[in-house]
Amino acid sequence: MAKRKKRQKIVKKPLWLVILLVCLSLTLSVIFEMNARNISLTPEHLLAYLKGEEIATEQPMSQPTIPATGEATFQFLNVGQGDATLIKGSDGTTILIDTGRYDDREKRIIGYLNEAIGTGGKIDLLIFTHGDSDHIGHGDLVLDYFDVKEVWMNGFDSTTKIYERLLDRISASKAVYKEPKRGETATFGEFQLEVLNPTEIPKSNTNDDSISVMLHFGTFSALFTGDASTRVEKELLTTQLPLQATLFQVGHHGSKDSNSLTFLQRVAPKIAVYSAGVNNTYGHPHIEAMNRIKEVGVTELYGTDQNGSITLTVKNDGSYTWQLEKGENLINTFNQKEK
Ligand SMILES: [Zn+2]
Repeated sequence: MAKRKKRQKIVKKPLWLVILLVCLSLTLSVIFEMNARNISLTPEHLLAYLKGEEIATEQPMSQPTIPATGEATFQFLNVGQGDATLIKGSDGTTILIDTGRYDDREKRIIGYLNEAIGTGGKIDLLIFTHGDSDHIGHGDLVLDYFDVKEVWMNGFDSTTKIYERLLDRISASKAVYKEPKRGETATFGEFQLEVLNPTEIPKSNTNDDSISVMLHFGTFSALFTGDASTRVEKELLTTQLPLQATLFQVGHHGSKDSNSLTFLQRVAPKIAVYSAGVNNTYGHPHIEAMNRIKEVGVTELYGTDQNGSITLTVKNDGSYTWQLEKGENLINTFNQKEK
């Protein structure tokens, strides 16, 4: 008798419990799906979802809104085993990403800048992707000799004399100083920048805390990741950040420990440029990274070790032309090496 009573109780309970569980799982699945598609949970969106209507996915970041009217040049300066990229708009806007190597006795970065923007010329934004000496090289001299309006650094402190000297120069200058984080945006002339890295919580690794930016010039986009490794690339892939770019500056001078295939597939660049020194001790660019670049369908590849300084001119309709100091498109060169 006791057993019968117990069984009856078990039979009665599921009726409301099942309904509750079904409702709960339906609600959770709706929330999860809307969250995955980055749709905010408003009553209107929920109603539209339950009716089976299509809801447009929201863009988490600002999209380029400034149409390009002039031209833009991207100069990948030949500074040996280091980085220095000068970006100029025809309205006079100038952005410099990194300042080359500390041990470049010729101080080529200064000569290049004198030629490109004139001695004492204006640099609207100077980005030091991170504090390594192949990126902040002659940054102190750039601050001494040119009119730098704003400086970005990644906030990862180094104890080297080069770094400390640079910090002294920055604080002595009139430049605005910022340590931007993921999600921040900025506009300089016709260039719109989105910061992809570092994050609010630092990775406490100078390379992986590299300032990474997506730069838009009208419909043309360029991605710079500094020396960030595949760890950062993997993390970026889990975000809703827009990563597609026409031009990709190959990560970490073409290291195989950056430039993962899945990341490159998401970026889907048409053109790629790396900056590396001739016969450098790191073996940059690594053939593994170059193979991945080819695998994702990049049609044009250039490197400062083979092509010297490389200048890309982008027109306001997004079309572009190249000017190389020497050599030619390297995609075929690496094809030959692989055989
Ligand atoms: Zn580097």
